[in-house]
Amino acid sequence: MLIDAHVHLDKYGDLLDQALEQIEKEQIFTVATAMDVPSYLELKEIAKRSSLVLPTFGIHPRRAAEYADRLQEIAPHIESSAAIGEIGLDFHWVKDTSSYPAQRKVLEYFIAAAREQNKFVNLHTKAGEKEILDLLEKYDIRRAIIHWYSGPMDILKEMIDYGCYFTIGVEVLYSDYIKSIAKVVPDHLLLTETDNPGALRWLKKNDEVGMPTAIKDVVNALAELRRSTVESMELLVYANFVRLVANDPKLQQLRANS
Ligand SMILES: [Zn+2]
Repeated sequence: MLIDAHVHLDKYGDLLDQALEQIEKEQIFTVATAMDVPSYLELKEIAKRSSLVLPTFGIHPRRAAEYADRLQEIAPHIESSAAIGEIGLDFHWVKDTSSYPAQRKVLEYFIAAAREQNKFVNLHTKAGEKEILDLLEKYDIRRAIIHWYSGPMDILKEMIDYGCYFTIGVEVLYSDYIKSIAKVVPDHLLLTETDNPGALRWLKKNDEVGMPTAIKDVVNALAELRRSTVESMELLVYANFVRLVANDPKLQQLRANS
């Protein structure tokens, strides 16, 4: 089974049916990360249509300012979600520095909840890498996926030593720096993602909609970079994901499917 550990399924619009068909046909287990409350509610509906879709609740750093003073309101959604994400910090693409305190407040609220509820987290770390690692250590969060890491190599190594998982995504097809990251992540911490449907469009500056089968391009690229085969790369990532969710009371269903 293929693993796509970071996808914005609610952003497919008219192409959603096609995306779900591909997910089923190619057997792609899909972690459907939310950006905010409406996004999570939509993902929960979408997930009713495929047992391969796991909807997870988070507030993206871009949305944090809208939610920083409404944390009580989001608590029930955190409770209802099997895992947490997308959450994180973005001090690079988000230029409005006045939102940074709100980003920190919202992130720490989610991290504390993840600790208390023993849920894995799916993190956006752009230019907040070190601060996020410090938070993971502070709350002793051991099950963390760092999504699309592109930060400094020294922090990458610290995160590896701490035991974070890393999703390599479609940028591995285009960027030498991401290729170098994809070679450094050890076997047992390697995961895959697409960040569909917007990642390809963003990278290629065109109007290409990323479809679920793009995950195969990522696996192929990883196999080549890591001098492995496509089959063993798929098995490795699958085994890593299963380990990440093992003994997770909220994810019984996934273990039953596997
Ligand atoms: Zn994302």
